[in-house]
Amino acid sequence: MTSDAADLLRAAPPAAWPDPPAAYSFTSLAVIEECPRRWALQNAEYPELWGSRGYPRLLNVRQLTGLAVHAALETLISSLAEAGIPSALAPGAVEVLTRHGGLSVVLADALEAELGRASENPRAIQRMGRIRRQAEELMPETRAALQRMLSEVHGLAQRAKGGGGGSGKLGEGASEEVTLRSPGLKLIGVADLITLGPDHVEIRDFKSGRPKEQHLEQLKFYALLWSCDRRRNPEGRLVTALALSYPGGDRVVPVPTERDLTEFAEEIRGRVEAARSALGALPPPARPAVAACSRCDVRHLCEEYWVTKGSVDGEYVDLEVTIAASEAPGTVTTQARLPGQREANPARLRGATPRLFPEGLEARVLGARVSRMDAEVGDATPEFVLTSASEVFALP
Ligand code: SF4
Repeated sequence: MTSDAADLLRAAPPAAWPDPPAAYSFTSLAVIEECPRRWALQNAEYPELWGSRGYPRLLNVRQLTGLAVHAALETLISSLAEAGIPSALAPGAVEVLTRHGGLSVVLADALEAELGRASENPRAIQRMGRIRRQAEELMPETRAALQRMLSEVHGLAQRAKGGGGGSGKLGEGASEEVTLRSPGLKLIGVADLITLGPDHVEIRDFKSGRPKEQHLEQLKFYALLWSCDRRRNPEGRLVTALALSYPGGDRVVPVPTERDLTEFAEEIRGRVEAARSALGALPPPARPAVAACSRCDVRHLCEEYWVTKGSVDGEYVDLEVTIAASEAPGTVTTQARLPGQREANPARLRGATPRLFPEGLEARVLGARVSRMDAEVGDATPEFVLTSASEVFALP
């Protein structure tokens, strides 16, 4: 946690709202459709906070290790393809992996690079020690996921000319991180791995988390993009195989027909138009809903969220607090209200030092744990506990 109230990030509105994207990725379209305000808050400008674009993302150790697995896969697949080795199980693969120092070294380097990038995030600075420890504890599990995902990749015997980073026609062979564009549909996407042969085109996406139905649509989105991208795919070839690669194994995805893609393109055209129209209002509309708001990482900035009744069933809640006084070491008394409550009521906040929570501080707390102990003994004053995962933002 932050050691001083002056170090708290402020829950201040953005200095400028973002323009709508010139091209929509699968993720940006999904976020805008769920809540245009969320996309706008995530991508607005906060020059008082940091020099980068957008609001600093909430860091999660699973996301971080997932990024490291992605980066390690890219390095290893690229090296196998360069050496003309079709898969990590083929003869010669061990020599290639050994040249890198083995899977563990490649993964550790990738993780270190991700941790380095994360340490520039002002929202993560106070948590970096804990995130690093958690990432290191997860290393055996992460390495096993990397090994399983790599073992599912085949057909790498040739590295494609033009590669993922190029912009011209994609040659036969394997290409990682291929940027695909459709200016007509205003879409963009990055396919993790495209393997191209005389009579096959496979798009594969690596997912370090659990399978979700949304991943199937994401691959259909890439199949559409590939079919429309006339620079990378001038002949307009269609995808013949789609695969989702999870730590638990591959999931084969149905391949859309040409007619499916035509219908999907029409559907996407309408969805992009609706997204553009929603982003035309400033600020874009908020669409509060319990499920969406509970996983929204900018909800402390969203006034609509704080006036909408949220879920109070869980073990964790969000609170708007005004600190009244220090009661005991590590405990302050406060006026607190949950989202949707009109009035603030007396409450206790544990895990709150007077330095961090001086009298009069007004703040929004995300993820405070509801203390059950006092409910059991019948204390009428609600009590909440700050945990290492709670976040506190000072109100301006
Ligand atoms: S808190 Fe809810 S309404 Fe507000 S931006 Fe996030 S998802 Fe949208």
